[in-house]
Amino acid sequence: MSIEPYDQRDGFIWFNGGLVPWPDAKIHVLTHGLHYASAVFEGARVYDGEVYKLTAHSERLHNSARLLGFEIPFSVAEIDQACRDAVRANTIVDGYIRPIAWRGSEQMGVAAQLTKINVAVASWYWGTYFDAEQRLKGIRLCMAEYCRPDPRTIPCKSKATGLYMICTIEKHRAERLGYADALMLDWRGQVAEATGANIFFVRGNELHTPTPDCFLDGITRQTVIGLARERGLSVIDRAIMPQEMGSFEQCFLTGSAAEVTPVSEIGDYRFTVGEITQTLMDAYSAFVRPAKPQLAAAS
Ligand code: PMP
Repeated sequence: MSIEPYDQRDGFIWFNGGLVPWPDAKIHVLTHGLHYASAVFEGARVYDGEVYKLTAHSERLHNSARLLGFEIPFSVAEIDQACRDAVRANTIVDGYIRPIAWRGSEQMGVAAQLTKINVAVASWYWGTYFDAEQRLKGIRLCMAEYCRPDPRTIPCKSKATGLYMICTIEKHRAERLGYADALMLDWRGQVAEATGANIFFVRGNELHTPTPDCFLDGITRQTVIGLARERGLSVIDRAIMPQEMGSFEQCFLTGSAAEVTPVSEIGDYRFTVGEITQTLMDAYSAFVRPAKPQLAAAS
C-alpha cells in the first residue's frame, strides 16, 4: 500500500498562530512531545466545508492539555478559527482536521516546565476510516491483548498521544491477523472500546454501551445516543462483560473518523447489520451535514 507521505503534501498547515506552507511545518528531533509523549490532539471530520462539533473538539483539546499539566496558549475560539483557516486554506470540502499541541525543545528530561507549548492544525481529504466495502457488511474485530488501563495509572480522559501506543500495537496485530480492528477490554475485564472508536450493542429496541469511566466519552458516541433516544430507543450505559456479547444481535462502532461503522464479528461472536444500526448510520450521516434536520436533543 503506498500513501503519499504526510510531510510532503501541498497546502498549508496552521502553525503557532498562522498558516505556513505544508512542508515547512517542522519540529526538531529534541522535542519534548516526541520523547515523553507530552502531546494532545484532536480528530474531527469536515462535512460540506464545516467541521462537525468544532468547538466541542477545541474544548476537549484544551481539557486534554490541562490533564497533562499544560495550558494551550490559544483560546478555544482561536483554535476554532485556526481549524476553519486550515480547512479553507486547503479547500477541504469533505475531509478531516487534526489539531495537535505539544511541549517543545526548550528543556529535555522528564521535567518540562520551561518548554513552549506549540499548536498546529492540519486538514486533509480522508475517505472512510475502514474499508468502504467491508464497512457495509460489518467489520471484523479480534480481541485485543492489551487492556484500557486503570484511570489511576493514566489521565484516561485526555486525548493524549501516549495513550495510543497500545492502540497502534493492537491495530497492527488485528490487521496482521486479517481483522479490521481490535476490541479492548478494560483493566477490570469489562468491554471498553476499539482502538480508535467507542462501541455499542443492540438487543431488541435497546442500545447497550459501556460506561466511559476509563476511556473517552466520544463526541460521536454522545451524538448517536441523542439520535437513538430521539427515535424512541432506550440507551443503557453500563458495565458490559465480554461473555454477554452472545446476547446482542447487532454491534457498531462510533468515532469522528469511524462515524457509525457496523461490526459483524468480534472473536467468536457474530452480529447482523440490522435495522437499528442502519437507521443510526443514516441518521448520523444526515445529522453531521451543515443543513441539519431539526433534532433538538441531539444538537
Ligand atoms: N476512543 C478512542 C480511543 C478514540 O481515538 C476515539 C476517536 N477520537 C474515540 C473513542 C471516539 O471519540 P470521538 O467520537 O470524539 O471521535
